[in-house]
Amino acid sequence: MPAQIIDGKKLATQLQGEIATEVSRLSSSKGIVPGLVAVLVGNNEASKVYVRNKELACKKAGFLAEQHHLPETTSETELLQLIDQLNRDAKVHGILVQLPLPKHIDEQKILRSIDPKKDVDGFHPVNMGNLLIGQPSMVPCTPLGIMRMIESIGYRLEGKEAIVVGRSNIVGKPIALLLMQQNATVTIAHSKTANLPEKIGRADVVVAALGRPEVIRGEWIKPGALVIDVGINRLPDGKLKGDVDFTGASQRAAYITPVPGGVGPMTITMLLWNTLQAAKL
Ligand code: NDP
Repeated sequence: MPAQIIDGKKLATQLQGEIATEVSRLSSSKGIVPGLVAVLVGNNEASKVYVRNKELACKKAGFLAEQHHLPETTSETELLQLIDQLNRDAKVHGILVQLPLPKHIDEQKILRSIDPKKDVDGFHPVNMGNLLIGQPSMVPCTPLGIMRMIESIGYRLEGKEAIVVGRSNIVGKPIALLLMQQNATVTIAHSKTANLPEKIGRADVVVAALGRPEVIRGEWIKPGALVIDVGINRLPDGKLKGDVDFTGASQRAAYITPVPGGVGPMTITMLLWNTLQAAKL
């Protein structure tokens, strides 16, 4: 039987509706309107689209959303000054610095300058550290969205074998920690991992976050597995593909996320969710 598709777009729409309701409640009861500021430096076309989509989603949910679009030539000092100003602005609950930044700016230095309470991307070392030691923290949006998708199908992770392919700070490492917190036994694979097909074949849960189109073949998937495809790969013909061979994998998996319409829409939604939590605090 083909896999059940976990419809990220549908779930995201439903959650965004719930967030909008909470926003109006918060604003009428406490006079607080969640505010998110996105900072974009330079002219990366993909980044412009991402920031615009985030801003639109925020506005739709009733947030105050603002964008600072700075020129490519902006210095590190100027960017630090802007973040300092946003850190001190009580109307701003979330600050998002769109990555990548131009080469002359130290990305880690900028991320560290954001007040951890306003770090709605969850990339600040304080938030990353809290996640590692199991303390409350801002959790990066993509891993948080994945956990909500898993929750939405009522899947119990306890005792399951999970494999996360990819070890980036924004996806691979945090999702591995979250799966472990839910008592899955987690393997983290990367580009130097030996015998990847065999390791994937043992996994009840596969999270693919490597950024290479359809590298994970359908025949590697254990029958009945849960497959989460994080990859977003634009092919020369303009089509979007995930990291998993969707057609093959959906013949074996019990559940699978599509690309597009899977993890992507959930990522934006979790940005709204994190900003709402920051505003409540
Ligand atoms: P990175 O490039 O930072 O990390 C990729 C990881 O995959 C690295 O750890 C790398 O290993 C590993 N890797 C690369 N090739 C292979 C391979 N052939 N076999 C096994 N492991 C491999 O990517 P990100 O984590 O930032 O993103 C991953 C993908 O997810 C991308 O397609 C990105 O566009 C997408 N993405 C989607 C989001 C969404 O909302 N849906 C949000 C964020 C990202 P090593 O460490 O050894 O180099």
